[in-house]
Amino acid sequence: MRVARSLFNLPNDSAYDPARWAEAAFDVWQGSYLGRHAIDQTAERRARALISYARTASPFYARLYRRLPDGVHLADLPAVSKAQLMEHFDEVVTQPQVSRRGIEDFIRDPHRIGHSLQGRYGVWTSSGTTGMPGYFIHDSDALAVYDALEAQRFRGLRSASDLLRQMMEGDRYAMVAATEGHFAGIATVERMRRWAPWMADGVRAFALLQPCSALVQQLNAYRPTVLATYPTAAEMLAEMQEAGHLRLRPREIWTGGEVLSEPTRMRVQRAFGCRVRSAYGASEFLPIAWECPQRNLHVNSDWVVLEPVDRAGRRVEPGVRSQSVLLTNLANRIQPLIRYDLGDSVTFHRNACACGSHFPAISVEGRCDDMLRLPGRRGGEVAVVPLALETVLEEGAGAHEFQVVQRSDGVLAIYLGAQERGRGGRVRHALRNYFDICDVGPVQIRLSRGGPVRDRASGKLRRVVCQLPR
Ligand SMILES: [Zn+2]
Repeated sequence: MRVARSLFNLPNDSAYDPARWAEAAFDVWQGSYLGRHAIDQTAERRARALISYARTASPFYARLYRRLPDGVHLADLPAVSKAQLMEHFDEVVTQPQVSRRGIEDFIRDPHRIGHSLQGRYGVWTSSGTTGMPGYFIHDSDALAVYDALEAQRFRGLRSASDLLRQMMEGDRYAMVAATEGHFAGIATVERMRRWAPWMADGVRAFALLQPCSALVQQLNAYRPTVLATYPTAAEMLAEMQEAGHLRLRPREIWTGGEVLSEPTRMRVQRAFGCRVRSAYGASEFLPIAWECPQRNLHVNSDWVVLEPVDRAGRRVEPGVRSQSVLLTNLANRIQPLIRYDLGDSVTFHRNACACGSHFPAISVEGRCDDMLRLPGRRGGEVAVVPLALETVLEEGAGAHEFQVVQRSDGVLAIYLGAQERGRGGRVRHALRNYFDICDVGPVQIRLSRGGPVRDRASGKLRRVVCQLPR
């Protein structure tokens, strides 16, 4: 343990505990070799323990479940929404010293990205598919499980020698993302760099919210062997690579945060000449599913339960696309998420995957926002990645229910939700600032009277829509 402590850097930071990390690594490793039935049994055992803990330690769940018998099954519990959990935040959490106000103070400070709250907890923010801001707090056990799932199942590092081999090969891992917020991905990268300084040169985050030319220059200098980003940002970087501005030779490209479409995968793969793999995660549980060689997403179902449901909240069969999905996080105790409505549409596959994994395979219909193409200040076009634009409006203007629609080259129509109409000036200002930074030329920003229009079939809000004729 002394070796582990000297490799890691935070004597006062109990969010990293080498013993817990080793225990989680062993549990995840063991779980990877279980059959389907044993995986389900493990999840059921963990769910029972979680429910019983939540009933005693969380005033919110104690009240919600007060009329239900002991030993009630997960599937018989009421679902909970983000709105409910955020409204009753201080009663949901299982430690009185954690409060919504404390979290808000913590996330207001961008210098604390990747730091621990009270030296113990990871904190991530998200808007998710509903556009409502959420705060998610994770204890050290949960962080250790996420790290182990990511390392062993997604990256295929099953042993110390695998890890050593990768270090010897000199992998350089670059994450390109919105870096100025407490988002799960970037906070995890910064946490790794703080906890393991010897790894810091091999793991770096690059800001997507900067001029494309600067990003290209930084990536060319760093020469990453693994590049992790959103699919739409990967597509933008593929354009740069094809044009000869970027000169990267990555071993793999990883995507997350949005659904990776097949045309995008093919294009990125062609431009960089390497494998592209996707993962499915959320601020509520970071590594929900990983992609296998058959390009199927397998759910880490020994640690996270996903229940696909229809509009009325009834479970749908495999092969049927769900309206939403209820998530139960079996790893985290500080803010229990039990049958939490995540909002994504998923389809559980009927047949077993050819890769032989016993973990269920799913398809996800997540975010489906478009990339915008705006006129450049020096001619040409500037590609604007939807997640970057959304971050600008959320963080810079405090807007969450909005829709940005591009119908012609230099014109953007902005639709704001009823509660956010007063933010028009801040929205315009935040967009202007962002476009200046990104070398976008003149763009008319028109604030429209109506509110955002949700998709009729799914009820979901597409926040960045490109309707340019192609
Ligand atoms: Zn598979």
